[in-house]
Amino acid sequence: MSLRGGIDVGGTKIQAVVVDASDAVLASARRPTPSSGGPPAVVAAMAETLGEATRDAGVEPAALAGVGVGVPGSVDSAAGTVARAGNLPGWNESFPLAGALSEIVGSRVALGNDVSVATEAEFALGAGRPFLSLLGVFWGTGVGGGLILDGAPWFGRGGAGEIGHMVVVRGGEPCPCGRRGCLEAYAGRGAMEARARRMQAGGRRTALFDLMRKRERTRLTSGVWARALKHGDELAAELVDDAVAALGAGIASAVNLLDVEAVIIGGGLGDRLGQPYVERIAAAMQPHLFDDDNPPAVRLGALGDLGGALGAALLVRLPA
Ligand SMILES: [Zn+2]
Repeated sequence: MSLRGGIDVGGTKIQAVVVDASDAVLASARRPTPSSGGPPAVVAAMAETLGEATRDAGVEPAALAGVGVGVPGSVDSAAGTVARAGNLPGWNESFPLAGALSEIVGSRVALGNDVSVATEAEFALGAGRPFLSLLGVFWGTGVGGGLILDGAPWFGRGGAGEIGHMVVVRGGEPCPCGRRGCLEAYAGRGAMEARARRMQAGGRRTALFDLMRKRERTRLTSGVWARALKHGDELAAELVDDAVAALGAGIASAVNLLDVEAVIIGGGLGDRLGQPYVERIAAAMQPHLFDDDNPPAVRLGALGDLGGALGAALLVRLPA
């Protein structure tokens, strides 16, 4: 069998795919990420999600040529361990994820960082195919970044790509990372929600939290933001405008340093708000570009929310 599995583990959901030798998706499944129980609970949920996808694809998990996993945090792919997966419940210490999952599913398991594998998926299979260098920007709960330089992923010393923590305002808004003025402090959905709550507590009116409750959510999801914008909610529009302006400054600064051919925008908010907002981000970059006659291509990711799982499956791609 030349089928492979890919699993994307996020703070809210686990997405699994089964792909064939040409990376076509044969089946996919999705489950919520457990909110308690630590790494063992997350591993069990990963195995169940993959099991559902393999059933739909008509294959046993053990018959897969391999399973790739994209996971947040500090990944040691050689050791098969993950530490400091901040978005996952009780996952701070190093945990042997590859071995634990491999034991359950009966197939070899390879690990990668979630944002890096999603960037590689866009590069190999999606909107980044025409380019040899690109910056992937994943605009969601946080703002993640991945780099392809001269056709190869760039990891630096292991921590490259943290575009969300480019400083766009010295001494600015508090960032979830504990510093101030980072891009993510303005454009991360988590930080945007915190700002919206502060502004509402200060007397500003907004429909954001009513829309959230109406949709039975406990967080301002990308869908809630999109709905509020559609309803002409002024506070939502103001915060999203601020996010776009910060993305423009942060991404343009990265382009000034690296001169990549393309910027690919994805993530929950990027996918949900789509092409009009990609164009707004490109326009917001323009005044900050040093070589402003020669802007990079700015494109919406082509793989949507399957990109992470597809990129994970690339980790176990068989040699051609
Ligand atoms: Zn930060």
